Amino acid sequence: MGIRVLVSGANGRMGREVVKGILADPDLDLVGAVGHENGIGQDVGVLLGREPLGLELAADLGSTISRTGAEVVVDFTRPAVVKKNLETIAKRGAHAVIGTTGITEADIPEIAALYREYGVNAVIAPNFAVGAVLLLKFAAQAARFFPQVEIIETHHDQKLDAPSGTAIKYAEAIARAAGSVTPAATKVEKVPGVRGGELAGIKIHSLRLPGFVAHHTIVFGGLGQSLTLRHDSISRESFIPGVILAVKKVSNLDGVVYGLENLLDI
Ligand code: NAD
Repeated sequence: MGIRVLVSGANGRMGREVVKGILADPDLDLVGAVGHENGIGQDVGVLLGREPLGLELAADLGSTISRTGAEVVVDFTRPAVVKKNLETIAKRGAHAVIGTTGITEADIPEIAALYREYGVNAVIAPNFAVGAVLLLKFAAQAARFFPQVEIIETHHDQKLDAPSGTAIKYAEAIARAAGSVTPAATKVEKVPGVRGGELAGIKIHSLRLPGFVAHHTIVFGGLGQSLTLRHDSISRESFIPGVILAVKKVSNLDGVVYGLENLLDI
């Protein structure tokens, strides 16, 4: 018997890839799939365009965790529901692997307290692509030498929120490593908002266009030189090895871990 995994958001773009990744791993058993609106009651295999799996897409997360005895719940849903889902998962005694964005560092203490209370663990990662996590590491190194930096993130045009959770995480990490960052002042902003949003002194620019998946560029400026670091997720498969790693490790962690980098030996 492998680890009993339930996917929340299984009929979404990411959820479908996660389901495929779990089905392909001999150490994991897909015991449940929960969705919202489209496809409820349908066979999950058929939803993926494959042979029937004998597993129906359920509508209610809490009761499905209990009914299936899921040990780990992977959640790729919507920023608006992720906190509620985190609560449901802990209260039903399962570990959580959360890819849904909408959670920042500031939310972690409260989530950690809840998970401690119920004796379960969570991995919450705004980006499960290993390359994106390496970019975080490299950017934190560069930030010590380049005090001025801006972030450009590009995503597909269906993405609900902006900036990306990953861009927020980069800004937080860069600001921490740099000590303090001050953006160049623009005296005349001829188009309101043209200089982007600002977090911890770092300008973030969000592009939303068809033809893209998830791309982050961090541009550092210094005296007579610039340094550009860039990561591209060109397909949603890029996130799956990180998700599978988190599913396998989450039960042995100590509480809540924010960021895939904490599971990698880097
Ligand atoms: P999507 O719109 O394709 O799928 C969303 C899923 O959430 C669907 O299954 C839908 O049924 C479900 N859902 C919608 N409203 C709901 C509700 N009220 N209650 C419960 N379920 C609900 O979105 P997506 O592209 O798969 O992205 C999902 C999330 O994952 C987003 O927050 C996105 O930013 C994030 N994401 C994270 C990573 C990462 O590496 N951490 C990578 C890609 C996407």
